[in-house]
Amino acid sequence: MSGDRGGFAALDSCVHCGFCLQACPTFLATGDETDSPRGRIALMRALEQGELSADDAGLTLHLDRCLGCRACEPVCPSGVGYGRGLEAARAVITDRRGVPLLARLALWALTTPGVAEIVYGLARALRSTGVPARLAGWGRVGFAMGMLAATKQGGQSRAGSGRDGPDSARLRPSQPALLFRGCIMEGLFRHVHDATIRTLAVNGYAVREGAGGVCCGALHAHAGLLEEARALARANVAALGGGGDGGDGGDGGDYPIVVNSAGCGAMLREYGHLLPDEPAAAALGARVRDVTELLAARGPAPGAPLDRRVAYDPPCHLLHAQRVADAPLAVLAAIPVLQLLTVPDAEQCCGSAGLFTLVQPAMSRAVLAPKLERLRAAAPQVVATGNPGCVMQLGAGLRAAGVRATVCHPVELLDASYAAAGHYA
Ligand code: SF4
Ligand code: SF4
Repeated sequence: MSGDRGGFAALDSCVHCGFCLQACPTFLATGDETDSPRGRIALMRALEQGELSADDAGLTLHLDRCLGCRACEPVCPSGVGYGRGLEAARAVITDRRGVPLLARLALWALTTPGVAEIVYGLARALRSTGVPARLAGWGRVGFAMGMLAATKQGGQSRAGSGRDGPDSARLRPSQPALLFRGCIMEGLFRHVHDATIRTLAVNGYAVREGAGGVCCGALHAHAGLLEEARALARANVAALGGGGDGGDGGDGGDYPIVVNSAGCGAMLREYGHLLPDEPAAAALGARVRDVTELLAARGPAPGAPLDRRVAYDPPCHLLHAQRVADAPLAVLAAIPVLQLLTVPDAEQCCGSAGLFTLVQPAMSRAVLAPKLERLRAAAPQVVATGNPGCVMQLGAGLRAAGVRATVCHPVELLDASYAAAGHYA
């Protein structure tokens, strides 16, 4: 391989120290060096240097079993950009063997405009019957049903699910922000978008729609489909600005872009690396803020008491990829009486990782299992986490394990607290 080394260069600083091993959930699950960051970096270097071919069975086995959670990055003293290296290696592997059929089918169904709307509409119809919750379990179908059941509005919010938001004339929010709706969030988690708009309005943000936004491309990039991810990134840059009109009527384009999905936020922030020759892509990435960051910047305003025992589970793509640790806790701290539980090793991945839970079910469940046992011991009523995949994975796992706790986004709890405080009256 010659010329532009792409993301492989981000692996160069690895000095094989092994500090990352104990942070890696797949290494903890198997104890196998080749399921660790250090072992995988050796495999990726061998791939780049032509010592291993892209269809080598050992290489693909261990890179396929990587969650891409990036828990290895913040603990690395050498600043290795593991995620970028993995993306580059997966692109080479995908060039050779294509995308596995199940992943290709899921990408097509969940992210293709015109198709996704139908798929999500059918999923919502099935969800409303209550059947997925009854069929939930550990098998492939049962787990998928549990994931769908977990997308249902959890009864945290008493503010309803209308899309109009609170009385903005009364609240007079003044700071504009553009909402990134995405695909899965828009298809199955509109109630989180609604809670996002309402809670931001209470804290002074006038949320506008980023018309024309599409899927962020994270699932494509993780599957090694970098050209498809770049096409989606270009569409989002055109829609949401980044030096253009911001999709907001031409008055600046420098408003924060509010994202309530950790996976999407991490991807949008990476657009500058995905499209290095297009300055507008990096400009867009610099405007991305997780919803909890915007709320925390304003306090946020306190709500009414909510008597709940809550465990916060930080999504890897918020904690490790975006390095947002304190803002979600500030959001929960704005809710009087709410009891925030300490759960050991909460920062460990839940095993969701985009399509990983579908295409690597055995490893995904192995990574999830210790987290479920720690949650069982902590006995929360609610698990709060800011990523759709984590909500679905944890919701399905808790239901299958017989642990009685609901899962929701942190802003849903703040929304319920604000509703009880009369902010939406
Ligand atoms: S990735 Fe970082 S922590 Fe892991 S072995 Fe390499 S230098 Fe050490
Ligand atoms: S991304 Fe996660 S699963 Fe993959 S090597 Fe790093 S810590 Fe391990």
